[in-house]
Amino acid sequence: MSTVLVIGAGGVSSVCVHKMAMNSGIFSSIHLASRTKSKCDAIAASVKQRCGVDVATYEIDAEEVPAMVNLIKNVQPSLVLNLALPYQDLPIMDACLAAGVNYLDTANYEPKDEAKFEYSWQWAYHDRFKQAGIMALLGSGFDPGVTSVFTMWLKKHKLKTIRTLDILDCNGGDHGQHFATNFNPEINIREVTAPARHWENGEFVETPAMAKKVQFDFEGVGPKNMYMMYHEELESLAKFNPEMERARFWMTFGDAYITHLTVLQNVGMTRIDPIKYKGQEIIPLQFLAAVLPKPETLGETTKGNTNIGCIATGEALDGSGEKTFYIKNICSHEAAYEETGNQAVSYTTGVPAMIGSAMVVQGVWSGDGVFNIEEMDPDPFMDMLNQHGLPWTVEEMDGPVEF
Ligand code: NDP
Repeated sequence: MSTVLVIGAGGVSSVCVHKMAMNSGIFSSIHLASRTKSKCDAIAASVKQRCGVDVATYEIDAEEVPAMVNLIKNVQPSLVLNLALPYQDLPIMDACLAAGVNYLDTANYEPKDEAKFEYSWQWAYHDRFKQAGIMALLGSGFDPGVTSVFTMWLKKHKLKTIRTLDILDCNGGDHGQHFATNFNPEINIREVTAPARHWENGEFVETPAMAKKVQFDFEGVGPKNMYMMYHEELESLAKFNPEMERARFWMTFGDAYITHLTVLQNVGMTRIDPIKYKGQEIIPLQFLAAVLPKPETLGETTKGNTNIGCIATGEALDGSGEKTFYIKNICSHEAAYEETGNQAVSYTTGVPAMIGSAMVVQGVWSGDGVFNIEEMDPDPFMDMLNQHGLPWTVEEMDGPVEF
């Protein structure tokens, strides 16, 4: 039985809060705070209607550390979940340190003025969290999150060492819009327009964005073009699996998405430096995000499945030579919407955020300091994925990937 404070009221938060309310034996008191209180109230109303559980709501700017500390002290949670944006990671960690409360997030810190995300800023908090006797659990979404746990589960149960790793993220959903992103548009576009980076022979190798394309036949979706890109779990996976020769991340995009994005980039709409417009400073990407469909409005129209998983090749644990395993989850947009009122991209992130929180508040996962999800025992998390809407399968493949 525990009290939790969730920050942010977007699609991911909505799913997570619904799932916490469905597990009131673990989360006995749920508090939700965000920049716009009406969004918290809308989530609370849906939770009340679907689950009969009350959620307390508050308005907060998470970048105002003293106000965050006051809120945490008033609520007295055992865990603060950061489901706002990566820009708020450090201020929320500062507030957790000041209030002496555990922290969890789903995306690593990113400065607003530079499209660069890496763990160094958050890893630098390790000693302070350790001294305070509290835990920060980083990356408890799907990717990072489930993909990281999938990899570590393979390493615990199937492979002694991992030689190559490919993370395949396919959203086969169709939302019926010309162009829309399925999570926060600003963060999503910053991510996909950044140069690709993959891990090879002990270092990250950079290539131009969207330059490497491969077609792959995804179960539950069909053949899709996937593009190699950088994703933050490559950094933590490479740190905790130093034997890996190569690790890559792939995401599917349809031709229409690529065409729209190319035009938007070419005309300067994805720039993140301020420009003057009618005497006012605006950031083109933020303006673009304001006119695009809000991800939380896509749920009702999105049809199809997501299919996200990892293919790992390495030395088998049972001494039978080199083996390749494919571990994945397939999630239906329609089923996610039916259960929580949100599409599958929010669902596949919000459910692992709930599960990671359950691990921390129940003391199944514990430690003083800042930890990536790869450092924890994968088994109890994998069990909860099966019980709470994200079942997974693992299969042996004939051999390593040929792309
Ligand atoms: P949304 O944009 O839908 O929601 C973000 C929420 O944070 C909004 O309610 C927003 O408020 C709130 N917020 C923004 N700034 C502040 C602030 N300064 N103080 C308080 N609240 C603030 O995003 P998503 O729900 O799609 O994504 C949430 C997080 O999940 C992001 O960090 C994203 O990167 C991460 N993510 C992780 C994935 C994974 O697999 N690991 C996959 C998908 C997303 P307002 O509405 O008022 O602007």
